[in-house]
Amino acid sequence: MSKVDFSMENLQKCICKTCPVQAESACVKEKMRKIPEMLESGEMADTEMVPGLYCASGKTACPDLDMSKMCQCNECPIWEECDLVSGEPLGYYCRDGEAR
Ligand code: SF4
Ligand code: SF4
Repeated sequence: MSKVDFSMENLQKCICKTCPVQAESACVKEKMRKIPEMLESGEMADTEMVPGLYCASGKTACPDLDMSKMCQCNECPIWEECDLVSGEPLGYYCRDGEAR
């Protein structure tokens, strides 16, 4: 199980939304469009529909991310709050799976 809760509160802190790794992904952009609706409803969508909080949900369902760019997780508030630096993997949760 992940160290991080897949919650609305954590999604709002997550900075994957501005990460260069997924900036050019058409698949991510499509999922981003549905986020305001989800936030308004107050209910989290299924993990594969949420283009962020991968430290909680695990690998992305999108095939078109650019892993040559830098992961931003170490600048995210969740990184400190959940002490992700002492776990595995160290960032790139969208590629390597959830934080343990
Ligand atoms: S640590 Fe990374 S994946 Fe987890 S909430 Fe922050 S930016 Fe998102
Ligand atoms: S897990 Fe890291 S690499 Fe993946 S989208 Fe979030 S910040 Fe970027």
